[in-house]
Amino acid sequence: MTGSLRKVASLAFNKLSKPTTISSIHGVSFPSNAYSTQVNCSQEIPSKCDVCIIGGGAMGSSTAFWLKQHPAGRALNVIVIERDPKYTKASTVLSLGGIRQQFSNAENIQLSLFGSEFLKRIQELLGVPDQPEIDVQYKNSGYLFIATTPEGAETLHENHALQRTFDSKVELLTQKQLKSLYPFMNVDDVVLASIGTDNEGWFDPWSLLNGFKRKALHLETQYVTGEVVGFETKDYNDSISVGPTQLHIRDTNGNIKSMEFSQCVVAGGYDSGNISKLAGIGTGNGILSTSLPVEPKKRYVYYFNAPSLASLKSFPLMIDSCGAYVRPEGPPGNFLTGRSPEEVDEPSCENLDVDYSFFDTHIWPFIASRVPDFENLKIKSAWGGYYDYNTFDQNGVIGTHPAFTNFHFATGFSGHGIQQSPAVGRALMEIILDGSYKTIDLTRFGFERFVEGRKVLEKNIV
Ligand SMILES: Cc1cc2nc3c(=O)[nH]c(=O)nc-3n(C[C@H](O)[C@H](O)[C@H](O)COP(=O)(O)OP(=O)(O)OC[C@H]3O[C@@H](n4cnc5c(N)ncnc54)[C@H](O)[C@@H]3O)c2cc1C
Repeated sequence: MTGSLRKVASLAFNKLSKPTTISSIHGVSFPSNAYSTQVNCSQEIPSKCDVCIIGGGAMGSSTAFWLKQHPAGRALNVIVIERDPKYTKASTVLSLGGIRQQFSNAENIQLSLFGSEFLKRIQELLGVPDQPEIDVQYKNSGYLFIATTPEGAETLHENHALQRTFDSKVELLTQKQLKSLYPFMNVDDVVLASIGTDNEGWFDPWSLLNGFKRKALHLETQYVTGEVVGFETKDYNDSISVGPTQLHIRDTNGNIKSMEFSQCVVAGGYDSGNISKLAGIGTGNGILSTSLPVEPKKRYVYYFNAPSLASLKSFPLMIDSCGAYVRPEGPPGNFLTGRSPEEVDEPSCENLDVDYSFFDTHIWPFIASRVPDFENLKIKSAWGGYYDYNTFDQNGVIGTHPAFTNFHFATGFSGHGIQQSPAVGRALMEIILDGSYKTIDLTRFGFERFVEGRKVLEKNIV
């Protein structure tokens, strides 16, 4: 993996060659250039493009970057359509920014390891001449999993064995070892713990998004402001073919504009299920009767101060056996915390209002039992954000639609998408421009699994 990233780094530094005209990729022809590639950021909505990416969050912007740094992608008109350039409700900017190699399936481990490597070399990969350095504030402080039952400990053992096959830097900790590493923790009920000694911790998602976007713009991607509200569809008769090639965008003045495209990437976060439906996915026969099962699920993040921990030198991103997590944020003694609710307690997604009682009943007692200094904490603020939640199996949906050969997905990450965005953008580039996965085989994460009823299992969904 390091070798392949190194290759990419050299690509990123290569002087851009003069664009050549590419008329087709995998037999799908592209419309001719509709605008000068020198104009890369405009309120104008072009009438044609080669690749349209719906959603300019981490997934869409990563995909744009990777496509445009590929020699075969440089001449393509890549357009990112984003309805809200301030990203007020985008998951990317409301995320906790956690990254870990501690997953239970091979693909998730590899996706996140790639993400960590990418973050360590971000300036080399996303740097733009004469622009400030990117500082994603990657805190490589570890992600601590705690098991309080023999079954939980067994799962940590199994996951650890798999993680080590990918050269992950994960260590299992006995109760005693955990106490000596983090003396401020109550470990009485701990059976086993595991922590990454490298490639784990947290970073600033805003800075990563800005890095992707700035580099994508530098490589002559065009971002347009508008909302995709429909596609030109026909009766597809359940055959495998090119899907819709024209979409409709509501611009900032409320006018509807049409745009032709050859390839479409659905990276609309929690709205990806709705976007796909507009294209006829989930409304037809055969394969097209299967919907993309991605929808919003509201999650709260609380910011608090625990004054007695202000002098602490080291605190990991800790996830307790109940699912509550905590990590430091900002000045010493300040922390972020949250927890996914049980299904019966899922809050309404009508708005992003915060339920403070959820902290009192479902989080505080648990984190204070683990870290007694949290008894005396003070909540400073909180926010709500939507997971791009895959209701089928809570894993990413990556790759080409099985019926529409020009529709590709990068969505449904259910709480672990920001760390996987560097690798997923690259994967989309590979299938669009190279025709197959070259770095990580993500075939199992394809849309086909919904049609076949085959779940991708991941035990470590947070
Ligand atoms: C509270 C919280 C904590 C999280 N913590 C972590 C974590 O610790 N680690 C981790 O890896 N992940 C975490 N995640 C998940 C992660 O943030 C997401 O999986 C990831 O950011 C998804 O990126 P995205 O680009 O697909 O979606 P988004 O960032 O939501 O971007 C999608 C974009 O599409 C645009 N869009 C949608 N529909 C349309 C349309 N019709 N037309 C035009 N534009 C459209 C939206 O405006 C939006 O900007 C967390 C998420 C939340 C909410």
